Amino acid sequence: MTEIANPDAFDLLKSLKLSVKMPAIFLGHGSPMNAIEDNEYRRSWQALGAEFGMKWPKPQLILCISAHWLTEGWWLTAMARPKTIHDFGGFPKALFDQQYPAPGWPEAAQEISQCVHQPGSTQPLLLDFQEWGLDHGAWSVLKPMFPQADIAVMQLSMDYSRPAAEHYALGQQLKGLRERGVLIVGSGNIVHNLRTLQMSAASDQAFDWALEFDHTIADHLQHGRLDALKDFQKLGSIAQQSHPTHEHFLPLLYVAGAVGAGETPRFFNTSFQAASISMRSAVWA
Ligand code: ZN
Repeated sequence: MTEIANPDAFDLLKSLKLSVKMPAIFLGHGSPMNAIEDNEYRRSWQALGAEFGMKWPKPQLILCISAHWLTEGWWLTAMARPKTIHDFGGFPKALFDQQYPAPGWPEAAQEISQCVHQPGSTQPLLLDFQEWGLDHGAWSVLKPMFPQADIAVMQLSMDYSRPAAEHYALGQQLKGLRERGVLIVGSGNIVHNLRTLQMSAASDQAFDWALEFDHTIADHLQHGRLDALKDFQKLGSIAQQSHPTHEHFLPLLYVAGAVGAGETPRFFNTSFQAASISMRSAVWA
């Protein structure tokens, strides 16, 4: 099954104007504390956000695919005021006090849902008017990037029961949105194993299997072998150890799907948290 985005599919969009092509970004989000700690990761997100309005125009809309919104079928948030969701436990009150009051954009959500279909089907994306909002996979990175919270944000969910190829195929459908002022942000981690965390590990320390998987994926990205990513489970034990569950890997497939041939990534945050979370991030522009 091959699904190539129809370049004219987005002609139906009234809300989003044609624009200079937006970058596509994958961010390793790691610990929720990165949202409020002054560390290398948060500083890099701040610096990346500052490039909009200088190097690139300010996005008309941010479409975020977070590791933390898993659903049956694929859903798009369509509420005017998405709530800030604190979907974690055992963290300080300062983290629960965080709010990211970026608006939603119901009209644009309706239009996008008609232009993007569920993988392997002609059904539109489902619209969520009240259930979700912005989970910490989204706001923990977007708040440092765009602290003014004045750009509309939408989240796209992932159907975890479906094969990796379908996630990649949906990402391919999103490609044309980049020319409509939409900044696509995937938020997960290229290696994510919470069972093996070594809290005292330095950021340049990681397990051998974590390094091998991270480097293998980086090599695919660097050389434009993007459709190979959907076969990550064939990498065997290093894939299983890097992703006992793979929801943190899937957002990368959406961003990779939205990247065009010949676009090369700029990597940053190429280090690890607690030896088993790769913070490697990439921007294609
Ligand atoms: Zn996470």
